[in-house]
Amino acid sequence: MSTIDPETIHDVEGVPVHSVHRHDVIIVGAGLAGMRAAVEASDEFDVAVLSKVFPTRSHSGGAQGGIAASLANEEEDHWEWHMFDTVKGSDYLGDQDAIEIMVKEAPVVVREFEHYGTPFSRTPEGRIAQRKFGGHTKDFGRGGPILRACYAADRTGHALLHNLYEVCIKKEVRFYPEFYALSLIIRDNVCRGLVAWDVINGGVHVFHAKAVMFGTGGYGKVFEITSNALANTGDGLSLVLRAGLPLEDMEFVQFHPTGLYLQGILVSEAARGEGGYIINDKGERFMERYAPDKMELAPRDLVSRSIQTEINEGRGIGGEAYVYCDLRHLGEDAIMKKLPQIHELAWKFLHVDCTKEPIPIQPTAHYSMGGIPTNKDAQVLADGKERPVEGFYAAGECACVSVHGGNRLGTNSLLEASLFGRRAGKSMVRFLRGTREFPELPADAAKLAIKEIERFLSADGGERVADIREDLQGKMTDECGIFRSAEKLEAMVKDLGELEKRFEKIKIDDRSNKFNSDLLEAIELGHMLEFSELIVAGALKREESRGAHSRTDFPKRDDEKWLKHTLAWKKGDEITFDYKPVIITRFQPKERTY
Ligand SMILES: Cc1cc2nc3c(=O)[nH]c(=O)nc-3n(C[C@H](O)[C@H](O)[C@H](O)COP(=O)(O)OP(=O)(O)OC[C@H]3O[C@@H](n4cnc5c(N)ncnc54)[C@H](O)[C@@H]3O)c2cc1C
Repeated sequence: MSTIDPETIHDVEGVPVHSVHRHDVIIVGAGLAGMRAAVEASDEFDVAVLSKVFPTRSHSGGAQGGIAASLANEEEDHWEWHMFDTVKGSDYLGDQDAIEIMVKEAPVVVREFEHYGTPFSRTPEGRIAQRKFGGHTKDFGRGGPILRACYAADRTGHALLHNLYEVCIKKEVRFYPEFYALSLIIRDNVCRGLVAWDVINGGVHVFHAKAVMFGTGGYGKVFEITSNALANTGDGLSLVLRAGLPLEDMEFVQFHPTGLYLQGILVSEAARGEGGYIINDKGERFMERYAPDKMELAPRDLVSRSIQTEINEGRGIGGEAYVYCDLRHLGEDAIMKKLPQIHELAWKFLHVDCTKEPIPIQPTAHYSMGGIPTNKDAQVLADGKERPVEGFYAAGECACVSVHGGNRLGTNSLLEASLFGRRAGKSMVRFLRGTREFPELPADAAKLAIKEIERFLSADGGERVADIREDLQGKMTDECGIFRSAEKLEAMVKDLGELEKRFEKIKIDDRSNKFNSDLLEAIELGHMLEFSELIVAGALKREESRGAHSRTDFPKRDDEKWLKHTLAWKKGDEITFDYKPVIITRFQPKERTY
């Protein structure tokens, strides 16, 4: 680390620039993507990881069900089967070259975790145990659900994340915990670093780097009912937009079928993987009507829509907006051994003992398929012509490579985050081996960030951040949720305009520098408003139903017009679009039935 005279890098009065830090690689995000990249790059280069929460509190740690790999530990499996399921699950919008890489490298990545020391659950023979998950099948969809998800009880993410943190510490990765990235420094298509806020002490810090990577995670917090952690506000996406770069396929938002009623907290798909049922007010296993073959283990988009249809048509329990996830027939032993966290969550949040009673559930906003466009080496792309931004990388949920297309299969995300995090690390190493110098740091590098902080610290209007956020979440759920239509989406465009006007008149009570959550929540709301515009505009444009994007006014998939990826930019108030083709190699699009 070195320090440059702060006066030389900014010309805005009022907010102190405390330090300029210099590292070969600066990674924002300490989830699986960020830390896996750090592990890879730190053998040769000086790597720092910034995280707005303490690293092991990243949302990856909340993942429950498992990480996919065709290890074939418990029954026959092949990477081709995994590839077919992922392509079909994506509703044929996933790029098949990237998917092929992911499914082929998956066993390597999982075995690496095993060697790092991740405490996976085991088969009686001592191999990594595997369970069933939605949309993962045998023999190119011709067989039933397959044992493919490697797991550590129902705390898989926790086990993987803590393990990676230990490896990072061992490799002397430098952590900046509770540092909040505010803006990117990109000039002439070269990424030169970023600017961050020290959450604990206050103050703006400049991070000067040869390579920057984003592993900033998802944005479930844009919706009212979500499985996501408080920190999942999609900051990285807005930072990229503000740097003049596009986002890809933002209209595709995954709703997980089973969130605890009114809480959104996840009841992992592992519950259904282990044999759990979903039933309506009449006691019917209603998935029989929607996916007679795969039943509860159909993919998430389909199961969520089915649950929502049952609720909308009055077959929720007692006519309310929930149905039941029933685990009782699995028996207390199996529940306590394989699903202990679900038992604990249902008990703590709803006072339901799931060994004796069914759990009230409803769909919950869960995962963002879209994000920062990248190529297979995790380089961020500046346009639809595959032009990379020099020195800028992204992986994990914030990125769109795109392996999930229109709908992600469960357990493919921990895989994607670790695997493309690893690829980002390798890619940065290759880049750095040929790059000796730090790129020039512009004199006004911190200007944007300082202006933003100043604006909020002096905000003295009449609107409360929490009120605007709540209205945003409610409206996005109603108007841009599981079922969409032009009418609802147009209403949402208007609502966003009004919310943004209100946002200009917010009041911040806390004017201090230290641990100012008032300030951070305002910054986060600004981000959420900004990229929500792209979710809504993209959804309005895409006049078809594909994967998780379901239009009641265009209920069919339309390959002729829409077998393509959306790219969207935001310049001032204007959103511009471009499209790029989907890469199809092995599997031609077919009707998607389960
Ligand atoms: C409850 C739950 C259960 C899940 N279960 C599974 C599962 O069983 N299997 C599966 O495959 N997937 C699962 N998923 C999805 C999967 O966990 C995530 O998609 C994946 O872990 C994301 O990893 P990541 O590294 O991209 O981001 P995250 O783990 O979300 O980490 C994001 C990081 O970015 C940092 N960050 C963000 N913004 C800023 C900023 N402005 N400044 C500084 N730092 C910032 C955060 O501090 C954090 O460290 C689950 C998700 C949830 C919510």
